[in-house]
Amino acid sequence: MVAVSERYERGTRSYIMSHIRGKDTSIEMLVRGYLFRQGLRFRKNDRRYPGHPDIVLPKWHTIVFVNGCFWHMHEGCPHCTMPKSNVEFWTAKLVRNRDRDARQHAELAAAGWRVIVVWECELAKPLRQARLERLYRQIVGGAVVGGGGSGEAASGRGSADLRDADQGE
Ligand SMILES: [Zn+2]
Repeated sequence: MVAVSERYERGTRSYIMSHIRGKDTSIEMLVRGYLFRQGLRFRKNDRRYPGHPDIVLPKWHTIVFVNGCFWHMHEGCPHCTMPKSNVEFWTAKLVRNRDRDARQHAELAAAGWRVIVVWECELAKPLRQARLERLYRQIVGGAVVGGGGSGEAASGRGSADLRDADQGE
């Protein structure tokens, strides 16, 4: 990684590094914290599902990905600017990420999950509250909740989720 990044101009490299250093994590925590305060319970980074979804809500048959605009190639987004150097390398890499996302979302949808993507840019200050409120409505509104009881397993995990969701305070 160092050898590759050495090839970029300083500004470009620090831009990329800022995206590597856990920026996704903090926006994930923002969304998790909000949903938890709304009373929703969920699993995190569940490795049983394609893409290790950030937020899995079994009761609502819903999976939420919180995506950084750069790494997940948010189309038409001003935050998804291609680095100026080594454009081919980055284009190939980011297109690969985007295609993998699309494949994983299709797999999840085929398995009966509703997949919602929240983009980093939608969580910028002026938009954040409205986006989070809309996400909540997307999750609980119009959901077809089956009677199979698959949501029961998640209900006992509240305290662990709370601890993790609040650890940024
Ligand atoms: Zn974006």
